[in-house]
Amino acid sequence: MGSFDRHVDLVPSGRDGTDEYRPGDPACTSALHGLTTASPRQAALERLIDGYRSFRDNFFSRNRDTFARLAQGQAPEIMMISCCDSRVEPAIIFETGPGEIFAVRNVANLVPPLTPDGSAHGTIAAIEFAVCMLQVGHIVVLGHSCCGGVRALLSAHEGTAIGRWLQTAASARSAAVGASCSGARATLQRVCEYEVIRTSLVNIREFPFVRERTRLGRLSLHGWHFDIETGELQALDPEADEFVTLS
Ligand SMILES: [Zn+2]
Repeated sequence: MGSFDRHVDLVPSGRDGTDEYRPGDPACTSALHGLTTASPRQAALERLIDGYRSFRDNFFSRNRDTFARLAQGQAPEIMMISCCDSRVEPAIIFETGPGEIFAVRNVANLVPPLTPDGSAHGTIAAIEFAVCMLQVGHIVVLGHSCCGGVRALLSAHEGTAIGRWLQTAASARSAAVGASCSGARATLQRVCEYEVIRTSLVNIREFPFVRERTRLGRLSLHGWHFDIETGELQALDPEADEFVTLS
């Protein structure tokens, strides 16, 4: 593999099949510092390189005109804010091609509120760019089932980067706990996933440049939820304030 013989392997080893975040767990941290030469994890990287070669020789080769046009600039109509989760890939779920979705992914598809101190934030900067420069017509917040970020939100992770990030959605946790009558974990998880989407939409609406364009009808906001196991896609009905399945 030439220059790829040595690489920093970012895939945690010793995983138990869950995506639960356990700060301090050697299985979650040791792999971040190791260099490997040959292993199943190396095979994962080689899989990427093989995939790139296939892309280059097939998809890219067949769509050279499209990529030549895209090299001149982008004009996507859609901005999508979705989770980092490896199981929720917008381009696959919505069968979109390059240039169609301006995408931001972060833990639990959160949009923080604009802060008075004006501190730097990547997600807010991306929204500002998409709305003010690209002038997208739609912003979609895409949540999903089995979200590890939401699961962490429902647990205690004080003192960690994830814990601080998820404080953005503290109100969503409170609303979910209040709304979840049965107390069943799966129900609370799903309700909280919905509430996180609602929280992100509320925060986006408060951005001055968003408020102006939505008032003029030039920008629409949407909250969607994807079920990994069933493939079901739900959309937040703003009138009923509930998620309904898209047929
Ligand atoms: Zn997630």
